[in-house]
Amino acid sequence: MRLLANTEILIKGPLFGCRMCGNCLLQETAFICPMECPKGMRNGPCGGVTPEKHCYVDESRQCIWYAIYKRAQKTGREEKLLEILPPLDWNKVGTETWGDVVKQVRKIGTAKFFGSLVSKDVVKKDEVWDSVFKTVRQPSWWLGDSDYHPPLYSEPASNLERCLRNGEFVVATEVTPPLSADSGKLIRDIEHVKRYVKAINFTDASSANPKMSAVACCKVAADLNAEPVYQIAARDTTRTGLQSNVIGSGQFGIRNILCVTGDSPNVGPPPASDMNFVDIDSVQMLWILRRMRDDGIYLDGRKMKHPPMFFLGAATSPFASDPELQAIKDHKKVNAGAQFFQTNLVFEPDRLDLWLEQLDKRNILEKVYILLGLVPLKSHKAALYLHNKVPGVYLPGNILSRMEKAGDRAPEEGIQIALELIDSVKNKKGINGIHLMTLGWEEVVGRIVTESGLCPSLSGL
Ligand code: SF4
Repeated sequence: MRLLANTEILIKGPLFGCRMCGNCLLQETAFICPMECPKGMRNGPCGGVTPEKHCYVDESRQCIWYAIYKRAQKTGREEKLLEILPPLDWNKVGTETWGDVVKQVRKIGTAKFFGSLVSKDVVKKDEVWDSVFKTVRQPSWWLGDSDYHPPLYSEPASNLERCLRNGEFVVATEVTPPLSADSGKLIRDIEHVKRYVKAINFTDASSANPKMSAVACCKVAADLNAEPVYQIAARDTTRTGLQSNVIGSGQFGIRNILCVTGDSPNVGPPPASDMNFVDIDSVQMLWILRRMRDDGIYLDGRKMKHPPMFFLGAATSPFASDPELQAIKDHKKVNAGAQFFQTNLVFEPDRLDLWLEQLDKRNILEKVYILLGLVPLKSHKAALYLHNKVPGVYLPGNILSRMEKAGDRAPEEGIQIALELIDSVKNKKGINGIHLMTLGWEEVVGRIVTESGLCPSLSGL
């Protein structure tokens, strides 16, 4: 076995950049090993690709997932990228996979397998290859596929889901978790925004910075009769922790869960931890949670007596990559279990159409609700920071110059820009609401919601 493993690394190392993860998925990743991604992504890119298609964690390197997507596109294998790939089985890391492949080839017949290599019948060839490699890369405890699985429950899991099902254009916002153990400001902010919005997100140590935990903030919100959205970052989550947390969070009345990858530890305070091999990525989180809820099983397949109930969401970054490539990742998240998306910040409504068209082509728009990420800019400096430093966020020149010219009036100008953006997106096909990210400026939520007319019952407040 050691000899086989050494031979495998000797050949696959230089050819594919193989790192002997022991759970080979080269067949599905256009024969480029994704394991050199510094965030350990195994199911597609994060939202951090730079405009030059480099990796935001290490800008000297091209985003490996962009390279995979481009090659798959060139060879007509994009749809292969939809298959939900499993997390690593750590007992296999460092071991060879060829032994399993050989076993599988023997099982289906050596002549049949090698015959398929020269066959011109593409469908048959794919079938034979899948009968070997899919069995190897999709263990029985995972069984990932490329299909859409509609939720298997009828009554809405949360009020947010109920409103979206009813066709309301909803507003969600974010309240910043406190940096210390004092919850006074948190409570005041929740009390202030709750009358204007359908749900409040609590981030999970955003920017890889420790803060009050999202689940604790959600509990505080639920106790104040506000509806929380519990964000869980893959960066700080293990497969065991995830399953335990969602069963526990249900006990606090938390019914909306948003799965995100999380920022690289490199953007947080030193000393940096490592994301090189994350335990699970955001797509895998969605797959695990959907199966817990709808199939009533744990990741290992054990049945649970009382499955948890939740409305499952994911993040997306419409401008992180080329629209048709971004749509592949979004399609994959919807297939894995995402019922709603909250997007990265958007400042160019027209550019959004290209992405929406791609989602429409994939028939995703009727399967997922989209809440568009908007922010009221407070200053020119903040605008520049978002434009230059936050991956996937672009501010057009006219917005940057309006903020610059506004001088002391910048906060007012930022509110006006936000109102204009709301106006231009609220009737777009496929957009079901907005997600106001205030970046600590929670007091402005009431004014924006009221002046935009998104909550008519509040006009005149
Ligand atoms: S941009 Fe994201 S997906 Fe691409 S290599 Fe970097 S961390 Fe990985």
